[in-house]
Amino acid sequence: MESENRVVAVVTGANRGIGFEVCRQLSQLNITTILTSRDEDKGKRAADDLKSSGAEVIFHQLDVADPASINRFKEFVSDNFKRCDILVNNAGVFIDRGVSILELPEEMLMETLEINFLGALRMCQAFLPMMQDQGYGRVVNVSSSMGSISRMGAASAAYKLSKLLVNGMTRIISAEVKQENIKINTMSPGWVRSDMGGPNALKTLAEGADTIIWLATLPENGSSGGFFEERSKASW
Ligand code: NAP
Repeated sequence: MESENRVVAVVTGANRGIGFEVCRQLSQLNITTILTSRDEDKGKRAADDLKSSGAEVIFHQLDVADPASINRFKEFVSDNFKRCDILVNNAGVFIDRGVSILELPEEMLMETLEINFLGALRMCQAFLPMMQDQGYGRVVNVSSSMGSISRMGAASAAYKLSKLLVNGMTRIISAEVKQENIKINTMSPGWVRSDMGGPNALKTLAEGADTIIWLATLPENGSSGGFFEERSKASW
């Protein structure tokens, strides 16, 4: 399974939705793509689906809310590929849709932060050192326009605050690795037709994945520490 001369990408929450589409597009660029999913059966089925059209996609279980699962996954990547060039922190939940912050149950807030924010932070802590050792890395944090403080309105506070934290984390990490060839950016895919976005959303999965792929393959003079929508800078 060794692929030391190939670019290796890791995508979280990739058994369906935008993450699955990102895996499809990355694998079409001849990138060895590790499709991860917290549910083993769903993830295997998704990877088999992509492999049936000839893509080099590898499945591994990964629950970003479980540090032990992240550790096992990190060992798998390090033992089998010895590198991680691209990390797409895509896994996310939106469970407090429309709930007032004044009535937000603490468990709902904690579950959302655990997956959307801590999950992405843990993945950065696990994989940035590998990127530093190899002198190359591209990290894309899938955030949302709902995490934009300048556009923040009422309700859905757990989701909005989790994405605000993801945006802040992106700035801090980018400042810490600014001397290195590592680009870390946060982005909003727009309103996308997935289970989360629903059937009335404006964008297809492919359109939602476009800016992610662009950021995942930035050249050495590309941006870092930015917030993007539609391949353009977005307001924080
Ligand atoms: P989705 O269809 O609901 O997919 C979410 C994915 O995240 C699923 O694969 C889910 O796995 C996974 N996930 C949830 N908790 C996880 C955990 N603890 N560990 C690993 N994976 C986990 O949503 P989507 O629309 O593709 O969303 C992808 C990203 O885009 C999210 O970060 C979301 O916030 C962001 N986003 C989406 C929209 C939109 O309009 N769709 C807009 C702005 C931002 P299971 O199948 O096991 O639940």
